[in-house]
Amino acid sequence: MKKNGILAFTAMSTFISGFILYNVQASSLFKNETAQTAAQTAAQTAVRSATSNSMNKENRILEGKTIVIDAGHGGKDVGATGQTGIHEKDLTVQTALNIKQELAEKTGANIVLTREQDEFLTLAERVEIAENHAADLFISIHFDAFTSNDVAGITTYYNKPADRQLATMIHDKIFEQNIDTRDRGVSQGDYFVLRENKNPSLLLELGYISNQADEQRIQTQDFQNKAAAAITEGIISYLI
Ligand SMILES: [Zn+2]
Repeated sequence: MKKNGILAFTAMSTFISGFILYNVQASSLFKNETAQTAAQTAAQTAVRSATSNSMNKENRILEGKTIVIDAGHGGKDVGATGQTGIHEKDLTVQTALNIKQELAEKTGANIVLTREQDEFLTLAERVEIAENHAADLFISIHFDAFTSNDVAGITTYYNKPADRQLATMIHDKIFEQNIDTRDRGVSQGDYFVLRENKNPSLLLELGYISNQADEQRIQTQDFQNKAAAAITEGIISYLI
């Protein structure tokens, strides 16, 4: 929609709702922090193509949305084990906590982690958490392993065809961060937490802990920051 269309729509929305919904400047959209109204929802749709700068300046942009971040494995289920002995379950929860922090700061969304401690959860319990919170999005965090230590890279999985676009958006954002590992692309995967999930969902394999370079990279603050930033940007692009 052209800018003057947005302005006209803004004026109309303001008139209908009886108060100023938001500043018309593209750099300060969605200032209003009241419960989301139908007019606001429509307005968000209208400005979907607004500049990404406006997203950076707006830290309440996903207020009212619920995002469930699932730290894979936990407790007796250690997941994969790296060459240095590190367990996947410990990396997933650390990564999930970083994503939670970034999402909370940048979007104002309601962020639910399936676990924040080293505890065992069944796959069904993880899906149940998404359902109980009526999640707008469910993202499961994992790290891969393979018998050959040469295999490296990041893969994004979806199950339902409707979630392919979501998976592609987030995957592309990750590789926009110049992460120096192989881009293994977006694939359809028959994972329980995706297949049984009624909510939009994807599963990220954020590197191979069986590969020395990946294993080291995953544990750096630089990678953790880039991953959290990319996933947050992808979620904003998808949900707004
Ligand atoms: Zn895993």
